[in-house]
Amino acid sequence: MILVLKESAKKAEVDNLITWLHEQGLDTHLSNGKYQTILGLVGDTSVVDEDLLSGLEFVESVKRIREPFKNANRKFHPDDTVIDICGSKLGGEHFQVIAGPCSVESEEQICTIAEEVKKAGATMLRGGAFKPRTSPYAFQGMRAEGLRLLLEAKKKTGLPIVTEIMSANHLPLFDDVDVIQVGARNMQNFELLKELGHLRKPILLKRGLANTIQELLMSAEYIMAGGNEQVILCERGIRTFETYTRNTLDLSAIPVIKELSHLPVIVDPSHATGIARMVRPMALAAAAAGADGLIIEVHNDPPHAKCDGPQSITPDAFASLTEELNRILPVVNKKQIGE
Ligand code: PEP
Ligand code: MN
Repeated sequence: MILVLKESAKKAEVDNLITWLHEQGLDTHLSNGKYQTILGLVGDTSVVDEDLLSGLEFVESVKRIREPFKNANRKFHPDDTVIDICGSKLGGEHFQVIAGPCSVESEEQICTIAEEVKKAGATMLRGGAFKPRTSPYAFQGMRAEGLRLLLEAKKKTGLPIVTEIMSANHLPLFDDVDVIQVGARNMQNFELLKELGHLRKPILLKRGLANTIQELLMSAEYIMAGGNEQVILCERGIRTFETYTRNTLDLSAIPVIKELSHLPVIVDPSHATGIARMVRPMALAAAAAGADGLIIEVHNDPPHAKCDGPQSITPDAFASLTEELNRILPVVNKKQIGE
C-alpha cells in the first residue's frame, strides 16, 4: 500500500503516523521525490483501515500495490535510484562500464587487464575469484587468493572491484569488495540473498538462466527487505530454444524493469551471447535501450583465458566500444561513461 502525501504535510504529523504504523507491525518507506512524497507500507496491510488513512487531512490518496515486490516497486519510489560506488554514480543519468576477465588467473593477468581497461574507459573492474562452473573438474577460481589479487589491482588503478559470491560462508572475505555480484545460478539462493540484505553495500544481482522479470524483482526484494536498498539488476541473457548464441539477450527486460522498478539495470552482453564479436552490437543496443551500464568480459589473451575466452574481447576492441558508447549516451539522456 502507498500513501501519497500532500505537499502541506507537516513532518511531525508524518512522524506520528509512521510510529503508529510501526506499532501495527508494518514497515514504512518514505520517499521524498521531485514531485511527490510517498509513504510506502510493507507487511500485512490488512491490519490497517484504508478509509481511516485516506481520511487523514495530510494524505492525498491511498493506493494498494498489486505487485508482490514492494521496496523494489517504482510506485514506492518514483525517482530512479542512483547508487554510489566509491564516488561513481550508477543509475539515473549516470552510466558505468564494468570490465575485466571472467576469472582472476594471476597477479600479472589481473593487474595488466585492470590497467588496460582503465585506460580504455572502464570505471570498475570485474573478475571472478569464486567461479560457478558447470563441471566440477573445470577451473574453480583462485578463491581467497583471487580476492587478494583484485584488491592489489584496485590499489594500482583505483578501480572499484566487482566480484561474485557463491556462499554466505564466504562473506567475511568480501569485506573490502566494493560491489558483490550474485550470479545467475544463485539468483534464487534465498538464504544468501537474506544475508546480503544485512549489508549496506551495493549488490549486483544477475537474472537467472530461466527466471522471469518478476522473479528477478522478487529476488531484489529479498535483499531490500533486509534494509539493503543498493541493488543493481543485471540482464545477462536467458535460455531459449536458440543455440547459436550461448543465451538470448532479453533487451526488452530493460524498459520493462524501468517501468516496474526504480532500481538501476545493467546488461552483460558477454554471457548473453557467448561470442566475442557479438558483444559490441549488443552492448550498443543495450545502451540505446536505456541500460544504466554494462559488464563486459575483457581479456588480454582470450585464446588462453582459463574461463570464457570465446566471449572475451581484447582491450583494443573494448577501447573502441567505449568511444562508440559515448556517442550513443547523449541520445538517451545519459552523461558520458563515468560522469
Ligand atoms: C560471470 O559474471 O562470470 C558469470 C558467471 O555470470 P552469470 O552468473 O551471469 O553466468
Ligand atoms: Mn564468465
